[in-house]
Amino acid sequence: MESSKLLSKEDLISFETKFFNLFETIDDMFIISSLDGNIIYCNMSLLNKMEYSFQELKNMNILDLHPKEKIEEASIVLREILDGTRDKCLLEAISKSGVKYEVETRIWFGKWNEEDCIYSISRDFTKENENLRLISKIFQNNPMPMIITDIEERKFIKVNPVFLEKTGYLEEELVGMRVDKLNIVVDMKRYEDMRNRLLSGEEIKDEELVIKCKDDSFLTGLFSIEEINNNGKRAFLIVMVDITEKVALTNRLRNKLQKLTNIIEGTNLGTWEWNIITGEVEFNEQWGKLIGYSLEELKPISIKTWRRFSHPDDLKLSDEMVKRHLKNEIDSYDCEIRMKHRDGRWIWVRDRGKVTERDKSGRPIKMFGTHSDITLAKEQSIELERFFSVNIDLLCILDMKGRFLKANKAWEDILGYPVDTLIGRRAMELVHKNDHHNTLESIKKLKKDGKLTNFINRYRTIDGEYLYFEWRTNLYNDVIYAASRDITERMKYEEKILDASNKDCLTGIYNRRYVYNRAEEIIERYKKREDDFSVCIIDIDYFKGVNDKYGHRIGDLVLKEFTSVIKENLRPYDILGRYGGEEFIVILNDIDEKESVLILERILNVIRNKTFNCNGNDINFTFSAGVANCKEIKKEEIVIDRLIGLADKRMYRAKNAGRNRIASRIK
Ligand code: GH3
Ligand code: MG
Ligand code: MG
Repeated sequence: MESSKLLSKEDLISFETKFFNLFETIDDMFIISSLDGNIIYCNMSLLNKMEYSFQELKNMNILDLHPKEKIEEASIVLREILDGTRDKCLLEAISKSGVKYEVETRIWFGKWNEEDCIYSISRDFTKENENLRLISKIFQNNPMPMIITDIEERKFIKVNPVFLEKTGYLEEELVGMRVDKLNIVVDMKRYEDMRNRLLSGEEIKDEELVIKCKDDSFLTGLFSIEEINNNGKRAFLIVMVDITEKVALTNRLRNKLQKLTNIIEGTNLGTWEWNIITGEVEFNEQWGKLIGYSLEELKPISIKTWRRFSHPDDLKLSDEMVKRHLKNEIDSYDCEIRMKHRDGRWIWVRDRGKVTERDKSGRPIKMFGTHSDITLAKEQSIELERFFSVNIDLLCILDMKGRFLKANKAWEDILGYPVDTLIGRRAMELVHKNDHHNTLESIKKLKKDGKLTNFINRYRTIDGEYLYFEWRTNLYNDVIYAASRDITERMKYEEKILDASNKDCLTGIYNRRYVYNRAEEIIERYKKREDDFSVCIIDIDYFKGVNDKYGHRIGDLVLKEFTSVIKENLRPYDILGRYGGEEFIVILNDIDEKESVLILERILNVIRNKTFNCNGNDINFTFSAGVANCKEIKKEEIVIDRLIGLADKRMYRAKNAGRNRIASRIK
């Protein structure tokens, strides 16, 4: 202003015009006031913001442009400026209608129309401050960790609560500290590199960096860094996206994938992925190796590559199954096919797969599957199958309900049932009715012990005959494996032997031991059910005389003939046995004392009147017999010896009374 005096008036006017024009164009509010603050001049910007007319303002003091409650503060600040202790201030201004503005005001002294005056220029920071507040709010409340660092000094200026929470540090442990002096960035080289790139104007966006927390755990973050102006200083605003969990998850998935890959490699599985729409196929190396090629040698690879190597007969089966799987009729595709190996032989491959991707309408898009070489197992199973079918024993596999899952040819050869008519049928249907109980018991035992040996039952042939089988059975995984041998011949032989051991070899009737055993059973039954019975002892009269007269051999023949006559005159359920020499024992079932005597009387009468003709000799004789009935002894005291003893005693009584008679309690 001093130099203005040197200017001409015209110059001055033109300068003043320029000066005012300038102030009219700026957005800042410009005021000229007297030293006591009365407003002399203001620009349009002020009029617009403060909403007063120039006339109104001419009667106002600059302090009136501040809210009432801030007037005191404003006057102090104004005084300080006038005293020269400060040159700018941040104050609140208020418009006519009450809108408040945050303004930064600079003041200087000058002359206006020769008078001392105050020039003041105020900049409205409301928006900027609002922005700052907003940024600060965003910074504080952001769910993402955020930091502001000083570029030159590399110090933490600000850290938001999320960053503190995640890293476990306290604010005072970070703010003011140098980033490179704290052990917080794990890879310092990378940090320096990022910093240099930033300084050279490059943008850092979503770059991975690992940081160390206070408890020595690690966080992986994606960092985006931008340069900002922080109160006039260059600073970095660093935003971090915590991907620690994501990284861990990815690692876990990667591990899992690696494991699966290892398993696939370890098991020598060939894998295929078929794009059903395009026909493209991806195989792993092992897939090629199965048929003796490297994938390189098989290029170009498509679904046709597989078809080319597959056995045409098996392709039909495979196509059928794939079709059914694609239509969702079967849960997965599982097929055994033959493939031509490089060396010319057919190998057996188990081909399994599943649709892994379908479109929205359920149409299959991708299928994934595996190939495994089962040639060895297949050949073995073919051998086993052969062995199974040539075995002369009955072999079968049953489910837990006893239904045939598999049976060998012997079933057809021995019992006459074609194998396919057996599958699904219950084996029990073929078992002899009388063996049902034992068979069911043995199955119970099998379920308990897991195996069963030497079990015998009878099976019906298709012609209705019954054959004996001896079984060896094992239970594995809820499936019954059984082998049995036809032992009918052996059983018949055993029966014969058993029969012989029970019989008297001269007469063919039962021996004494057998009758005793049967008698025990009969006594037991009587004790339970009161089925009456009698025991009789028969002794031929003067038999010694027969021997003496005709010889022992003729005597034998007579004994034979005698027993058959007696047998003819007994009922089928009576028991006749040789008691010794020419003495016989008879057990009469379901009969009382009186009827027993009657039966014996009748038989004696037959003998009396019969002439035995042996080798031209006519021989006549009689017998004496004693009868004892079960009712004669208290039930609980009955034993066979007592009854026989009683009958024997009576037989002697008959002898003594003159022979040729029956003696009983009543007679
Ligand atoms: P009784 O009973 O009436 O008193 O006269 P008995 O002659 O039948 O006398 P006893 O019963 O004591 O003798 C049995 C005779 O039967 C002795 C023996 O010569 C004859 N005897 C016993 N066992 C056999 C045999 O197996 N074969 C033959 N031929 N004779 C036998
Ligand atoms: Mg005798
Ligand atoms: Mg006798």
